[in-house]
Amino acid sequence: MDAHQTVPPSRAELVVDAEAIRQNVALLAETARRSGAATMAVVKADGYGHGALTAANAALAGGARWLGVRSQAEALHLRAGGVTADVLCWLHEPDEDFTEAVRQRVAVSVAAPRTLHSLIAAARRTGLVAHVHLKIDTGLSRNGATGADWPGLVAAAAEAERAGHVVVDAVWSHLACADEPGHPSIDAQAARFDEAWQTARAAGLRPLRHLANSAATLTRPDLHFDLVRPGIACYGLNPVADHTDVRLRPAMTLRSRVVLVKRVAAGEGVSYGLTWTAARDTTLALIPIGYADGVPRLLSGRMSVWLAGARRPIAGRICMDQFVVDCGDDVVEPGDPVVLFGPGDHGEPTATEWADAIGTIDYEIVTGMHRPRGRRIVVDGGPVLLDAGRARSEQHAEADE
Ligand SMILES: *Cc1c(COP(=O)(O)O)cnc(C)c1O
Repeated sequence: MDAHQTVPPSRAELVVDAEAIRQNVALLAETARRSGAATMAVVKADGYGHGALTAANAALAGGARWLGVRSQAEALHLRAGGVTADVLCWLHEPDEDFTEAVRQRVAVSVAAPRTLHSLIAAARRTGLVAHVHLKIDTGLSRNGATGADWPGLVAAAAEAERAGHVVVDAVWSHLACADEPGHPSIDAQAARFDEAWQTARAAGLRPLRHLANSAATLTRPDLHFDLVRPGIACYGLNPVADHTDVRLRPAMTLRSRVVLVKRVAAGEGVSYGLTWTAARDTTLALIPIGYADGVPRLLSGRMSVWLAGARRPIAGRICMDQFVVDCGDDVVEPGDPVVLFGPGDHGEPTATEWADAIGTIDYEIVTGMHRPRGRRIVVDGGPVLLDAGRARSEQHAEADE
């Protein structure tokens, strides 16, 4: 699609600022580099809702050397999109066949002998060497081998490495409470991690180490090791905002347009259940996006939107496809742009504010936007948000996925 093209009307648009992702990753990569670590940008869950390839390419341009994803399928999606950088995937089906991962040089996390055996089989089939990151569970009790199972897994991996089927590139783990700096579990996990690494070394392996998510990347340089794995921070959301002064920029904006405006009299109720009543004569604006688009219904009565130069409260319940905004006596017209959340530059709410309002985390807000029924577009340098013009010019490309 042409750059410099007029944005056609669309019910709902998720605008992704690729430049913001690039700059956030550049900041994180610089932080890591100061401790001698490289950066793996995590682009699972469709790049946290921003588009996996959009996020991957922006992160690589910002200095990431690795990409991390949940599954082999996500990794192969990156390869199909032309990504040649190192990729690690970490959550597998119980009977997964890793032939394509091995063929396309995707590193596979191994937390159990079963996965190791599938990888050895794939290496045999292809005549290639499988790249392995051995995962130790240091206390999250989610994925990873327990301390009790670790020596056996390490021995089996070392044997497979000597036989030429696999190469153990890294030992890695994941933190439970990195977003609570000072939490005692962080040091406890780090100690178990060190022990696991020593065991791997004693078995003759020479793996890299990686442990730090966004929060640890920003607050624990001593845990950067060889590679850091930031996810949410790449997208400009800071899980340790009270503990750092790093300037990240949110990359996602959700916007829509007013489709109907009307005047109602004092005393009229609004939306299902009539939970909101006009306290005086007022102007209502109808916005054609709702919980089926990822706007949480729990935000009903708890959030405002940016519209016609001000924040204006959502009136009554958010519906499946639409909600109503109270505009008082101000002039609002059909076609006026509405920003539901964005970087916050102009006073619009942020994804973090949405999350705080309903008792969740901003991760859930942005990943919940992964398939808007409107469209996702990618811009460099941020969207034109508050231009009251009916047709706006914006450098953008249709999302690639
Ligand atoms: C999601 C994930 C990350 C990134 O976590 P953030 O908190 O988003 O930085 C890192 N490592 C693993 C294993 C993950 O699942």
